[in-house]
Amino acid sequence: MGKLNQCYLCAGPIIEKFLTAYDRQFAGPDDYVYSKCRSCGLVFMNPLPKPEQISAFYPREYSPHQEKPGRGKRKSGRNLFKSQGSNRLLEVGCGTGSLLKRHQELGWNVRGVEINSNACGICRSNGLEVHCGTLLDAPFDNERFDVIFFNHVIEHLLDPVAVFKKAADLLAASGKIILLTPNNASLSFGKYGSAWYHLDAPRHIFLYGPESLRELCAKTGLSILDIRTLPSSRIWTQSEHLNRFQGAVIPQGLEERKKIIETAGNGKKSYRIFRAIISPVCFFSAKLGRGENLRAELIADTARK
Ligand SMILES: [Zn+2]
Repeated sequence: MGKLNQCYLCAGPIIEKFLTAYDRQFAGPDDYVYSKCRSCGLVFMNPLPKPEQISAFYPREYSPHQEKPGRGKRKSGRNLFKSQGSNRLLEVGCGTGSLLKRHQELGWNVRGVEINSNACGICRSNGLEVHCGTLLDAPFDNERFDVIFFNHVIEHLLDPVAVFKKAADLLAASGKIILLTPNNASLSFGKYGSAWYHLDAPRHIFLYGPESLRELCAKTGLSILDIRTLPSSRIWTQSEHLNRFQGAVIPQGLEERKKIIETAGNGKKSYRIFRAIISPVCFFSAKLGRGENLRAELIADTARK
């Protein structure tokens, strides 16, 4: 798929060069242009990356693919989901499996899907059953799940329509998809633009808002049962940090980028005052739909009848 001149989801008109970004976490020589749909508000990398480019976006140091001390070893923890049906939980993009392990201990029957083989190995060594690949090639034909969880995953998917269709097919009769994803309608994205920590180019290919998520559901046989935005003062402080140290101006050349990223990483500022000022803003903006994250619960259209 080359460069799009209309919205990937709703075919509406787009702002072609909504913003330009670079990899602020690991440097890299490339610039990435994001377009924005004037109709449903979807923000997407344009042109979309080619499938063979994706793995290079995730270097070994990418933290969700690495085991952290204490991760998955907690004895107990909060149940994130209401008990449902026969408690079959599938997490897509389960990383090293800490959430699955915790819910297994809480009595859930858990399965995972993870594309990173290192993270899959960690899951398996912790006794978790994980498909190493994508949801599209997962051998779940005869299985159905009560909860399918996508924790900050859908923004990484190159083919969200196909993945959601498959997820809809895998839901049990009263099953739900629960997802978290950055909110492109957030106040902090409006303020920081290409320095927004949640943009995370080039790993985040699609950024959704409530409208574009609705559009994605409409195309994939799903309906929104509940949608809300959640505040994150961490995203505010991290964006403020990127903005102060790396600025909105894109440095040219790889060496300059590496140097600036190194400096930013070394700047150990606590942002205590900034956090104190921003916390109430952050809290109230989430009440008004402008929080940093979207949380949605989806059901299959067939479940409505
Ligand atoms: Zn659109």
